[in-house]
Amino acid sequence: MPPEMDEVVRLARHRGFVFPSAEIYGGFRSTYDYGPLGVLMLRNVKDQWWRSIVQMRHDVVGLDAAILSSPRIWEASGHLANFTDPLVDCRKCKERWRADHLEAGEDGALHCPNCGSTDLTEARAFNLMFKTFVGPVEDEGAVAYLRPETAQGHFVNFLNVLQSSRKRPPFGIAQIGKSFRNEITPGNFVFRTREFEQMELEFFVPPAEADDWFDYWRTQRLEWYVDLGIPREMLRLRDHDKDELSHYSAATTDVEFLFPWGWGELEGIANRTDYDLRAHSEASGVRLEYFDQASGERYVPYVIEPAAGATRTMMAFLIAAWDKDEVGGEPRTVLRLHPRIAPYQVAVLPLSRKENLVAKALEVLSLLQPVAMCDYDETQSIGRRYRRQDEIGTPLAVTVDFDTLVDEAVTIRDRDTTEQVRVPIAGLVQEVSSRL
Ligand code: ATP
Repeated sequence: MPPEMDEVVRLARHRGFVFPSAEIYGGFRSTYDYGPLGVLMLRNVKDQWWRSIVQMRHDVVGLDAAILSSPRIWEASGHLANFTDPLVDCRKCKERWRADHLEAGEDGALHCPNCGSTDLTEARAFNLMFKTFVGPVEDEGAVAYLRPETAQGHFVNFLNVLQSSRKRPPFGIAQIGKSFRNEITPGNFVFRTREFEQMELEFFVPPAEADDWFDYWRTQRLEWYVDLGIPREMLRLRDHDKDELSHYSAATTDVEFLFPWGWGELEGIANRTDYDLRAHSEASGVRLEYFDQASGERYVPYVIEPAAGATRTMMAFLIAAWDKDEVGGEPRTVLRLHPRIAPYQVAVLPLSRKENLVAKALEVLSLLQPVAMCDYDETQSIGRRYRRQDEIGTPLAVTVDFDTLVDEAVTIRDRDTTEQVRVPIAGLVQEVSSRL
């Protein structure tokens, strides 16, 4: 059963996934901080992406480019001229909207979603890049931009990577990092924020192979979400119409997720053609192309780009995992997160705070810490501690009780079935590893 959005927001905050930023000052314009659980979960999302895109392949290498870099990048890429949203103001209530997010009423006119007025200004192009100054003097020559996507770092380093890594097309460059967009209407929790994290792959291919690789990455990327536990029926691929395509794209497909308010984008897979490499070649005077020594062939590769949002994806995992059921006649909330995504894989719980039990539990904890991210909790009754672990999605709880001191065995409880089995400590690491 999909949760209400405010249930997710409440749990995220209460349990320490996501806090409104600067809360003690009344918050700050849809910015968020990731708490003790959020930072673990977000890291897992990024690690799983990296694992599938870089670690498990021989044809992709990594990169971590600067957030602040030459403004000539954004001039050449077209972002200075084209990275805009159509902004309209409501003359009546003074709210601002993205024109392409407004729906026409029965009268055919656009209405302000806040007050219903049709008295809206003409749409004007609003550039989404954050502008700042580098160095002590705030003049035109010092202007720089916070990157609005990680992608251009891949293109301007194309030759560096090609030469240092000895890769040749088809090959990819992967990067995870922060991007910034001065969104007109941030909202829906962390779905749309002005500061967010992206996971982007630029996959360089011979132009004749671009269509095939585009299809390949569409499938690969959809399956990644399914493999990590998002039900297939909550996902779909949506092809962009021609008039919807970005300025650099020949074809784009979005991976969409069924959010509580409807379908929304998690990731865009685009055929960026040779647009970016050509644009940077022209602007910089450096030829960004591939030269095949064997055949003597020289060409500018096409680029297939799967570009996902890490923060938005983490939110989708939270929503998809959310469930409510009954245990022993009591209602419970449980996050059925995939073990690779859950903040903690194991909770170690001494039955009581008795000194000898705690010592034993800490011993068990130190056995498990090298193989899993573990929580340790000795507060409250054991029942309440299980509920808490269910609510934060911990797949396994290991309980140390008084019998443990005698039989050197512990109880493993499964989050989903709530079944408990007794396992000797000697075989615990193996048992936990195989279950995860
Ligand atoms: P939208 O149409 O929602 O504004 P977009 O199509 O401009 O998004 P892309 O440029 O394709 O987004 O960015 C790739 C991914 O980065 C998106 O699929 C999304 O997951 C993430 N993303 C983009 N903008 C934001 C944002 N403001 N907040 C959080 N994540 C974002």
